[in-house]
Amino acid sequence: MALIQCKECGQSVSTEAVACPHCGAPQQRPVPPPLPVPPQEQKIYLDKVVAVTTTRVVVGGTTYALRNITSVSMTYTPPGVLGAILLLFVGIVIFFTGEFLSYGGISPSAIIAYVTAGIIVCGTIFGMCKAKPTYHVCLSSTAGEIQVLTSKNKAYVEKIVVSINDAIALYK
Ligand SMILES: [Zn+2]
Repeated sequence: MALIQCKECGQSVSTEAVACPHCGAPQQRPVPPPLPVPPQEQKIYLDKVVAVTTTRVVVGGTTYALRNITSVSMTYTPPGVLGAILLLFVGIVIFFTGEFLSYGGISPSAIIAYVTAGIIVCGTIFGMCKAKPTYHVCLSSTAGEIQVLTSKNKAYVEKIVVSINDAIALYK
């Protein structure tokens, strides 16, 4: 409650008063400010799996309210090497089997062993060079950090991280 001057008699009148208590002149009540209109939800990014809007992030049917998200980041998991190491080991075993078979002179079975070992070792090395890491979209909230999306496609994950970042920066 505040006091204003009456336009008629100049004395102090409460802003809550309908009329001046001194002269009885009707007082204009201040118009209350309009209620803030909630911003309309707009799509920032949309594909078959992910939707980023001005109020929420939806990934595969799970909705995360934008106001709960504190930050977003991209993390990655390097490709697994255990399978490749096992395959290399198998290749080496087959190679030494070939060595054993060619003890009394090169035999057809020894050649088969060498060729097989060569294919396995070359294939494994090629596969290791081609192996890609896995990328994740990580959302941080007051409740902790969660991985919401995983993909081998780095550009796709980056695009979603940028969209969520925009949403946080502009609409949170
Ligand atoms: Zn008055």
